[in-house]
Amino acid sequence: MTSATTPLSITHAAAVMTGPNQPLRIDHLPTPTLAPRSALLRTLYSEVCGTDVHLHHGKLGVPFPIIPGHVSVGVVEASGGGLTDIEGGPIKEGDVVTFLDVHETCNNCYYCLVARQPTKCPKRKVYGISYSANDGLLGGWAEAIWMKPGVKMIKLPKELTPETFIGGGCGLVTALHAVDMAEIRLGESVAVLGVGPVGQSCVAFASLSGASDVIAIGAPQARLDFAHRMGATASFGLEIPPAERLDAVRKRTGGRGVEVVIEASGAPDAVSQALDLVRDGGRVIVCGHYTDNGSIEIHPHWQLNRKHVELKGCWGSRYDHFHRAVALTAKYGDQKPWREMVSGRYELDRAGDALKAVETRSAIKALIVPNPSLV
Ligand SMILES: [Zn+2]
Ligand SMILES: [Zn+2]
Repeated sequence: MTSATTPLSITHAAAVMTGPNQPLRIDHLPTPTLAPRSALLRTLYSEVCGTDVHLHHGKLGVPFPIIPGHVSVGVVEASGGGLTDIEGGPIKEGDVVTFLDVHETCNNCYYCLVARQPTKCPKRKVYGISYSANDGLLGGWAEAIWMKPGVKMIKLPKELTPETFIGGGCGLVTALHAVDMAEIRLGESVAVLGVGPVGQSCVAFASLSGASDVIAIGAPQARLDFAHRMGATASFGLEIPPAERLDAVRKRTGGRGVEVVIEASGAPDAVSQALDLVRDGGRVIVCGHYTDNGSIEIHPHWQLNRKHVELKGCWGSRYDHFHRAVALTAKYGDQKPWREMVSGRYELDRAGDALKAVETRSAIKALIVPNPSLV
């Protein structure tokens, strides 16, 4: 079954990462055969996230060559039939959808069934990361993306523009998971370390969770200013020495420190600073270390045991985070300026420039726009 109005081209261009630190290359991949419950999306937007920079540096073991791009939005161009969302609603040609990049979580292994930690399922595959380009159009930096049977798609609600959702992008889902783990209660104080895409969404979700004080710590100043628009009530730049920042945060919190710290910076030092900033009996969530950025010393007595601190690592995300991220951006997209986080748009042949912009932090969020005539 194919759309009557949009004939399928035989091949689709894709920006391919061939190996660590290699320039990207444009390849043309064939249209897949669409089995029942599979589809082909015509890509509207994909994004460049910090993980893509780590991939390019060879810091994550992936099956090069790959087509990067794990969070994307597209239009269903063709389907093998039988596509539905989780509530049984039909998904048809012409629908604008996003999809959970994580696929094939098995629900049949120790981590899925006993530990109940599906983000650690060894069978899971991730679009744009753990599929090789030799397996097909399984990343977002391409004119079309192949939805394998069972990939979880969501139609964007009519009040949610593709630009708002992709502006939040991958960081939305990570941030929602981290804020869930933090179990923020009404009126609590929260510090977010790092003001990249994950940190900005952590600020937004912490403020929506009812935190009365949301303190953003990071750099540069423009990103701190943006964090205030996301809901931060105070901010401190990295030019202020950590001891002075700690003093300032304690002054705001009755000398105790904040109830919750979410580390979203990727700097090893930030984890130690988080343990200093949190009050006794508080919670620290670490979600900024998706790659090995090195180690730091932590003082077990003063920073953990005596403080009675809960310290949690947050890895990956589940369908429920993704589902709620779509619902939350639909509901709050006019209050929280996710769409304005986009600071660069790049066609496929400039994907390398997009990667460079994120690597050098000249862009907070760079989008890949494989079909510019459609957006
Ligand atoms: Zn499993
Ligand atoms: Zn990502």
